[in-house]
Amino acid sequence: LPSDPNQAQSLRQKPRQALLAASSKLTTMRGSLHQAMQSQISSIEALSQRLRHAEEQANKDALTGLANRRQLGQFMSTLEEGSAALLMVDLDHFKQVNDRYGHMAGDKILTAAASLLAGLVRTTDIAARFGGEEFCIVMPGIDQVQACEKAEHIRSQMAATSFEAGDAPVSITASIGVACRQPGESIPHWTKRADAALYKAKQQGRNSVVSGD
Ligand code: GH3
Ligand code: MG
Ligand code: MG
Repeated sequence: LPSDPNQAQSLRQKPRQALLAASSKLTTMRGSLHQAMQSQISSIEALSQRLRHAEEQANKDALTGLANRRQLGQFMSTLEEGSAALLMVDLDHFKQVNDRYGHMAGDKILTAAASLLAGLVRTTDIAARFGGEEFCIVMPGIDQVQACEKAEHIRSQMAATSFEAGDAPVSITASIGVACRQPGESIPHWTKRADAALYKAKQQGRNSVVSGD
């Protein structure tokens, strides 16, 4: 140390000042790092929210908001062994509805019919738009008698509901094919049987329920 006490004192102060400066720099850096991390976390949260929304949209039918065929396929492929019923629901003479009231009114009625179906199924079931004016309902854990009762209830509710096209009340009916899954039966075969039952319901005059079992 220099013999001059002032010089010695100033020399001793130097490392201390350097330490204080480094510590203040570290505090500033920690603050910036924290801010950067917060901003990264916010971006990740926003991205995962967008991803969740996109996933939801990918499973939904754009017009009616019901599950689409993709989600229906996923639901059916993950069904556990045991009884399950498949209802194919097709609106009757829907082309005439479009012809009479216009396609926009047809869309509105289609959406209302979809809501009616969604309101008639349990949370453990799925109601999906199969395509066009055709819907598909899958009900796990119910047998053929219960499935036919449920289908009959859906048919009668559809026929009793007054839909709207502008100011005009519109009545529509539906034909329903029912099939309960047989042990070991493939999904395409099961679907085909429900479809064949629906075809019969159309053949026998519509506004009716036919069981494929
Ligand atoms: P059926 O009783 O034999 O089922 O007669 P249908 O007229 O309902 O059956 P068809 O297969 O001849 O015609 C289906 C009609 O459904 C025609 C088509 O324009 C209408 N449709 C299908 N998808 C939509 C849609 O997204 N919006 C509207 N407005 N109409 C649709
Ligand atoms: Mg139809
Ligand atoms: Mg059809």
